[in-house]
Amino acid sequence: MFIASTPSQEDYLEIIWQLTQEKGYARAADIAQRLGISPASVSRMVQKLHASGQVTYERYRGLSLTPQGSRRGRRLFERHQVLATFLEVIGFEDGVGIRTTVEGIEHFFGPEELCRVQRFLDFMDAEHTVYQAWTAWQAAHPLGEGCR
Ligand code: CA
Repeated sequence: MFIASTPSQEDYLEIIWQLTQEKGYARAADIAQRLGISPASVSRMVQKLHASGQVTYERYRGLSLTPQGSRRGRRLFERHQVLATFLEVIGFEDGVGIRTTVEGIEHFFGPEELCRVQRFLDFMDAEHTVYQAWTAWQAAHPLGEGCR
């Protein structure tokens, strides 16, 4: 729905992890709906994930993740959350807009990039007066006209 026209393997794993957290398994139809694509295109990627040992398929139930797939799916989900929080801290407010932006940039954030963003968020948590000053400063300095 909010994801670029061709979802990557990472997008699939993240969604499958989320669905299995919610329901215990992931059906192709639910994956397709969350990714905004047709169920037919789900099956090819699912085969790849199966071949690489990240998902298992149970007839009549749906997909579940192997321990390896689950670890990776959880990390991808957490990465999404960290980046969404970062965008909020720098002033984004609209939830859908944040989600769309995260979907666009998240694949470029490897462990080091993510750790640096997390470290910045930890700093803002620890230094609350800095965070408050930043929030007030943002409110007093609206984005320029060329920014929207
Ligand atoms: Ca994502």
